[in-house]
Amino acid sequence: MGKKKRTILVSACLLGAHVNYCGGHNNHLAVRMLREKAILIPICPEQLGGLATPRPAAEIKGGTGKDVWSGTARVLTATGEDRTEAFKRGAREVWLLAEVLGAQAALLKARSPSCGHGEVYDGTFSGVKIDGDGITAAFLRGQNLPVFSEDELARCEKWLSTGES
Ligand code: SF4
Repeated sequence: MGKKKRTILVSACLLGAHVNYCGGHNNHLAVRMLREKAILIPICPEQLGGLATPRPAAEIKGGTGKDVWSGTARVLTATGEDRTEAFKRGAREVWLLAEVLGAQAALLKARSPSCGHGEVYDGTFSGVKIDGDGITAAFLRGQNLPVFSEDELARCEKWLSTGES
């Protein structure tokens, strides 16, 4: 009998779904190919939080995802509209799905204010990055779920085959 596949959350935009802020996708062939090795659960925290597609771009102002959860940073559009509650709602919905479906890790889109892992934009809409996670990535890590970005695919694949990252 073959080895049982692990179940992982994947940012839906990496699988080619047209869910990102401009109505486009971030299709990533190698991420798609993981379907051979794992059960993939597509998620888009921003849509699950109730935001429309397309939608204005938003960034975390005043910190990173963990600071949003501690209440010291907010998610704002370039014109200053506050999207914090929708982003937090989306993260909780993703966790709900992870629990119901038994997800064991997440492979999320790099640098997104929701999905980013390791670095995110600094809230100035100028392309400057700072160390830290997006709101959903921070929440999932807080639940002890391993999180990887598409830039960490080798680590994700190692985790899939060995349980170590
Ligand atoms: Fe992709 Fe995550 Fe942004 Fe949705 S919230 S478009 S899944 S990066």
